[in-house]
Amino acid sequence: MPPNEPLETYHEKRQFQRTPEPYGEKEPTKDRPIYVIQKHDASHLHYDFRLEWGGVLKSWAVPKGPSTTPRTMRLAMLTEDHPIDYANFEGAIPEGNYGAGTVMVWDIGTYRNLRAEKQDHHESMEQSFNEGKIEVWLEGKKLKGGYALIRTKGMGGGGDDTRKWLLVKMKDEYAGKLADPEKTEPDSALTGRSLEQINRDAEEAAHASVAGKPAR
Ligand code: MN
Repeated sequence: MPPNEPLETYHEKRQFQRTPEPYGEKEPTKDRPIYVIQKHDASHLHYDFRLEWGGVLKSWAVPKGPSTTPRTMRLAMLTEDHPIDYANFEGAIPEGNYGAGTVMVWDIGTYRNLRAEKQDHHESMEQSFNEGKIEVWLEGKKLKGGYALIRTKGMGGGGDDTRKWLLVKMKDEYAGKLADPEKTEPDSALTGRSLEQINRDAEEAAHASVAGKPAR
């Protein structure tokens, strides 16, 4: 059943007294919409690929992370919409909570909707999403250039799962520039921290607040 209001599923999955994740209050950005990839060391390490439109961050979990090699397809599972504030969230989600584990802002920037720029098409992000074909130009700190998201439903062997998409690097001057960015640039694009450092900082902050000192 589709949610009745934006972020309903996001709010249902979380208890905000028990997780440092944002509830979501930020207004849509005025200029270029946000693009962000969060590295999430949960039960399985994965990369959450998010694009801002319609007042939320549309989100896909990419188990292997994005490829910079053209035509290399990476499975991207559609997940619940996240609040815009989530784009800057780094921290540790405590055990027992949904998505427990460490979250890092692995790459952040803005994007352009390439299908809106095409002659005779001018597809909005919403239209592209409904058609199961999104094409964006990323302006991230790590990733740049064209990426396509393609829904597999209706494709041979794709099955009925409408959550199943593929993330594909498009062919352009940025293709192949970073050979293996998950390995060569593992740390935060926002704070330079590693997953271990984010975890340590979260633990220190928790201990400080228990000891009566204000958390950082
Ligand atoms: Mn995740």
